[in-house]
Amino acid sequence: MTRLLLIASLLLASCARPVSQSPSSQVDPQLAGEIANVKAIDNHAHPVRPTASGEPADHEYDALPVDSLEAQPDPVRDRPDSPVLLEAHRAVFKGDKAAAAKSYGQDYAVRLLDQLNIETMLANRVALGPGLPSPRFLWVPFVDALMYPLPTESLAQNSDQKQFFALEAKLLDRYYKESGVASKPATLDQYLEKVVRATLQRHKAGGAVAEKFEMAYLRPLAIGNPPKAVAERVYSTGAGDYTALQNYIFRFIAIECGRFGMPVHFHTGAGGGGYFNVGGSNPMLLEPLFNDPELRKTNFVLLHAGWPFARLETALLTKPNVYLDFSAQTFMNYPHDTAENIRAWLEYVPEKVMFATDAYPFAPPENGWEEAAYVANSTGREALGIALTGMLRDDEITRDRAVELARMVLRDNARKLYGLK
Ligand SMILES: [Zn+2]
Repeated sequence: MTRLLLIASLLLASCARPVSQSPSSQVDPQLAGEIANVKAIDNHAHPVRPTASGEPADHEYDALPVDSLEAQPDPVRDRPDSPVLLEAHRAVFKGDKAAAAKSYGQDYAVRLLDQLNIETMLANRVALGPGLPSPRFLWVPFVDALMYPLPTESLAQNSDQKQFFALEAKLLDRYYKESGVASKPATLDQYLEKVVRATLQRHKAGGAVAEKFEMAYLRPLAIGNPPKAVAERVYSTGAGDYTALQNYIFRFIAIECGRFGMPVHFHTGAGGGGYFNVGGSNPMLLEPLFNDPELRKTNFVLLHAGWPFARLETALLTKPNVYLDFSAQTFMNYPHDTAENIRAWLEYVPEKVMFATDAYPFAPPENGWEEAAYVANSTGREALGIALTGMLRDDEITRDRAVELARMVLRDNARKLYGLK
């Protein structure tokens, strides 16, 4: 019996894929070295501003923080006992974030980027603030709030959305104040000019390189093209199809972003919270926008590459104005999974694929933005290495091209898109 079991398990072992492989066994060693050496541009992250003791904690790392949503199971890789997380604790500032915070002070966030060989991090935040200096951190503000000039109480479908719409109302209030507008303008045209365009202009003047929509947390990504008269009527009467008004304002923002040279970032794919509408986050819902001639001068970036719809995005890369990054996949999923997606994109339209972390303070201090950045950075580089090694071994590309592709994904594609040096 024991002998039979032994034979059976040997047979299984011989045909099964090894459970874990060190990066070196899957990634060509020379390529691994090249990938590690590239100073990356991180297309999407939520760095937390370093604050001195006594100063209030920073809460501007997200317009819609996910830490107070109804509890849900974490993916295995993000659970507190996950080996990658434990490794991240040991590695970030040699396992002593408190000592690093003390000795580096306002340089803390920059020092973390240095440790991870990230030259530039696009900081998706309500505001940047001290401790996140440009050009190491480039600002990506939030613009969903502008889509909701009418009361939103009736739109919230669950407790998570209730919190979110309240936060958007607060942010819209801030945008009104910053625009010098005391109350809701009488007409939609006035609102678009004095609040929406004024806010985009202020963002641009404040150094913003893109604008971000967290729309999938509030409503599905299906965005129609309603007649202006319909939107105007809803705006001035407060009655009728609120979604039509939102869609009209969205399109105004997207066209303006094209004029201002700021790509539009979309959260795509699964998100935080047990009520999150995964089906409504499917990036394919955005295809009518990408096919709309009026929006061709606006570039769109699909953040997180819409996992679990990541493979579908391969086809969207053929739209002239659509890009993606593989942030968040790299701490939620294992390297082989992201590597399979990266390989499919690189075999199709490699000029549109960007590295990113989505570094986020999920459960600080143990699981802070630092740990998320560490895990996503090492997993992202490893997944890229696995993808390129596979393409090299299958004679799809030369070694030189593999190195070139690595540089494109980690740096050059983002440099071109945002016009960075
Ligand atoms: Zn994010």
